[in-house]
Amino acid sequence: MAGLESLRFTNRFTRDLPGDPDTRNLRRQVRGACWSRVNPTPVTKPELVAYSREVAESLDLEITPDNEQALADVMGGNRLLEGMDPFAMCYGGHQFGNWAGQLGDGRAINLGEVVNRKGEHWTLQLKGAGPTPYSRTADGLAVLRSSVREFLCSEAMHHLGVPTTRALSLVSTGESVVRDMFYDGNPKHEPGAVVCRVAPSFTRFGNFQIFAARQEHDLLKQLTDFTLRSDFPHLGEPSPEAYTALFHEVCARTADMIVHWMRVGFVHGVMNTDNMSILGLTIDYGPYGWLEDYDPDWTPNTTDAQGRRYRFGAQPQIALWNLLQLGNALYPLVGDAKPLEAGLDAYANRFQSGHRRMMAGKLGICLRDPDQDEPLVAELWPLLAAVETDMTLFFRRLADLRCEAGAPDADSDLLAPVEQAFYQPEKIGAEHRASLADWLRRYQQRVRMEGVPDPVRKEAMNWVNPLYVLRNYLAQLAIDKAEHGNYGMVRDLLEVLRHPYTEQPGKEEYAAKRPEWARSRAGCSMLSCSS
Ligand code: AMP
Ligand code: MG
Repeated sequence: MAGLESLRFTNRFTRDLPGDPDTRNLRRQVRGACWSRVNPTPVTKPELVAYSREVAESLDLEITPDNEQALADVMGGNRLLEGMDPFAMCYGGHQFGNWAGQLGDGRAINLGEVVNRKGEHWTLQLKGAGPTPYSRTADGLAVLRSSVREFLCSEAMHHLGVPTTRALSLVSTGESVVRDMFYDGNPKHEPGAVVCRVAPSFTRFGNFQIFAARQEHDLLKQLTDFTLRSDFPHLGEPSPEAYTALFHEVCARTADMIVHWMRVGFVHGVMNTDNMSILGLTIDYGPYGWLEDYDPDWTPNTTDAQGRRYRFGAQPQIALWNLLQLGNALYPLVGDAKPLEAGLDAYANRFQSGHRRMMAGKLGICLRDPDQDEPLVAELWPLLAAVETDMTLFFRRLADLRCEAGAPDADSDLLAPVEQAFYQPEKIGAEHRASLADWLRRYQQRVRMEGVPDPVRKEAMNWVNPLYVLRNYLAQLAIDKAEHGNYGMVRDLLEVLRHPYTEQPGKEEYAAKRPEWARSRAGCSMLSCSS
């Protein structure tokens, strides 16, 4: 382990792919290039709010009180290290179903790509470090509240076992950034911040789409060949077959990622094709949210409140739609639609089987007999949706239901373990209680058939059903404090969320369902794209 100066930069993206010859930091359409050189904008007073020790470890970095300020200086954008070659990527994308043309890294600046002692490649990217040629009409900055949310959520997702980009650091900049949070004519000054994101690469579906849309097929081929060699070397040298294999692997990885989102109750909020990673990582934490009461129609994104395109339950189909757009973009290289269509079919199959396995895991059973078990699973969802039932707590507490021979099965015995998951228990009618108890009784009998002892089932279920997720109101409480210069709760949450499946005595408050005050508070249940 060593300090910042020991980071070794390889920078394959800028080394191997065509860049924009124009190095002026002016907003424009960038043609004939995959990236533009641009430096972070220096800030007044970079201060380290928090960092992830696991990400630092992946980079072979040792952070000590002695080099914390150096880390803040570099990751706040004030100092470049030897070997860094900062750039912004050119990409396009479909936003809310419509082709939006060039988007690009409007407020993300890649500092460069590091190779660690194990030979792993990691790209470091600052989010909110100032304007780039792709900033369009915006300022290139990020506010503390959205940066806290991105920092905590990417690390929380990682520890939950969900594929995601990571976050090394969260730095407050000392700058004030103006945001009109709900686009309603009430702009406010907010503290600025920069997150250093880390991933093997930040290539998005939109990186391929922009070249296909512009018919820059030579660039499309260069980017795809580069992606094959750097991110998917096991697929062999570039050829139409390798391009097809690449597409199939992206489909598979995306299916796996969405299964995980559905498992933990994560709603991305803005599944535009520019926010889809070619590596199947969760990327771009904006107005995301966590399901509290189970509601497949819920979206946290107020910008999407009308159409609810990106609601929880629609995520599997939206991912398929996005993959179709990626398939269209790769078509000029493959020259045949059939193998690409097969990739989409493979997505659907993989999602379906993955989802079935995931649900079996959540319930602690083996789904062996689809005729019998599918209805058991299918009938649970409407019951959870019928009255406000906390999804996370329901599955966690279901593991406590006694199922062994002789276990009590009166309605009240069956309901007792999951009672805690109800938001308004006093409003639940006798009819609903009876229906849920009936389901629980069938579940109990189903578990008993497998003969797995209760403690064994509980342990297995508790590795699938987290106890601690980044509940929307918890993130907001941490933000409220951070905006007053108190970073304790950000650090505390980071710590608790490192072990989301393990009960942590003294941390019960972080497992508690949403309190009533948070039901309709901005930042808790409603978020805009303003960040
Ligand atoms: P999103 O869908 O939020 O990921 O962003 C869509 C596009 O807008 C991307 O190209 C972003 O880089 C860009 N963008 C978002 N916020 C800003 C900002 N404050 N300054 C510059 N560009 C931004
Ligand atoms: Mg984005």
